[in-house]
Amino acid sequence: MNSANPEYPRLQQFEQELRARLRRPLTLHITNNRRQVIRLSNAAEEVVLRINREFEQAPASFFEALTRYIIQGKRDDWKRVQEQVRNTTFEPRPRRPRTRYLYTQGERFNLEDLLTQVLETYFPELARPLITWTRASARRRKPRSIRYGSWVDADKLIRIHPRLDEADVPEEFVRYVIYHELCHAVAPPYVDSSGRRQIHHREFQELEARWPNLKQMEEYSKELLRRS
Ligand SMILES: [Zn+2]
Repeated sequence: MNSANPEYPRLQQFEQELRARLRRPLTLHITNNRRQVIRLSNAAEEVVLRINREFEQAPASFFEALTRYIIQGKRDDWKRVQEQVRNTTFEPRPRRPRTRYLYTQGERFNLEDLLTQVLETYFPELARPLITWTRASARRRKPRSIRYGSWVDADKLIRIHPRLDEADVPEEFVRYVIYHELCHAVAPPYVDSSGRRQIHHREFQELEARWPNLKQMEEYSKELLRRS
């Protein structure tokens, strides 16, 4: 991973600003290293900084302290940097599920084909996620709700309920469920100021509303549950 990665605009901005102020060459590496989350080699001829990507979320005060420390070398600024290190959670690298767990060809629908159609129409720029049918569980009684799809962000994976592969389900509805899950990938959940996790938030709803007959799809979703 290098600093040209557009996923880390804040780190890139920091790099540019630091470069403008330094009188020495600078190399910045954005890393996944969780053991050494920040590593600075501050030599007279070159500054090399290796920094974990989680610092993308760090506040401005962190970048100011780090910049000052690199330029002026004051211990107090390094202490501020260390404080931020203690306040940051360093998540493991996202897992990729092994392909043997992916079932894309159903009795009726091929999920890869439907995913391709939805991506081409609505999200041509999005990195292709994985998709799979989930396995049917033994049905004991009439379900009160069915989660037709889910988005597993850590795996970049869409999971689709096998009920949607049954004979009475229109292809358009399966495409819509895939679309809904892709909206989760594009407009991810966040935690609001009162600490609540917002999932189908406004940005999500606005995105989902691009689906041409959303109302009909929502009605159909209820109808399908009544029939299940
Ligand atoms: Zn949802």
